Amino acid sequence: MSVIIKTKEQIEIIREGGKILAKVLVRVAKKVAPSISTFELDKYTHDLIIEEGATPAFLNYRPDGAPKPFPASICISVNNEIVHGIPTKTRILKEGDIVSLDLGIKYKGLFTDHAVTVPVGKISKKDQKLLDDTKKALEIGIWAARGGATVGDIGHAIESFVNRKYGIVRELSGHGVGVKIHEDPYIPNYGKKGKGQKLIPGMIVAIEPMLNIGKDDITVADDEWTIKTVDGSRSAHFEHTILITEGDAEILTK
Ligand code: MG
Repeated sequence: MSVIIKTKEQIEIIREGGKILAKVLVRVAKKVAPSISTFELDKYTHDLIIEEGATPAFLNYRPDGAPKPFPASICISVNNEIVHGIPTKTRILKEGDIVSLDLGIKYKGLFTDHAVTVPVGKISKKDQKLLDDTKKALEIGIWAARGGATVGDIGHAIESFVNRKYGIVRELSGHGVGVKIHEDPYIPNYGKKGKGQKLIPGMIVAIEPMLNIGKDDITVADDEWTIKTVDGSRSAHFEHTILITEGDAEILTK
């Protein structure tokens, strides 16, 4: 495992990139409405990123072991889909859906990563609670991510907050980010206090809890990318890129 401590110059660029990413994702989230296709949202996202002088990091991204490159700029995962949903012309959003928008960009050679889950029109109270709690889980993870703490402290904080009220996706995790879109260390959304990689000021990481109304278990859809819940329950996902400091982490994607 090799953790990259970012230089002042890199941090400054990633800070700028994070602001751009946050601005783009806010605009994409506002576009989410009944009867829009996920394909249209992807095209809109792509154009906004280019307009900002950045590059979509997920387009044609092919991690080790992936059967094919990711074919779009943004991952859009609806309802029981957790992450890595591929936008298509036939996927039309409808009232009551919940939609995870996960976006990475490359700006001046450096990467940032950010996700939100948003409602389509009016959603059920149960789904709204899932969104609120997943967002809260991210905030708690960020609170735990301070210089001198460990990756296990972050996972432990999130897992304790969730307290078995939801399934926690265990096969996917947060990660270092910046020079590459996915760097060491991996940051599971569960863990033991004091265990794992120590957090050092100057590290930049993405924390991203994924919570399911039902069980933890996940499966890959026929498109070979989309990850969904085995039990069909709905799932939410929130993510920020943050800078580790001596004290409170600095949220870079806002
Ligand atoms: Mg990520």
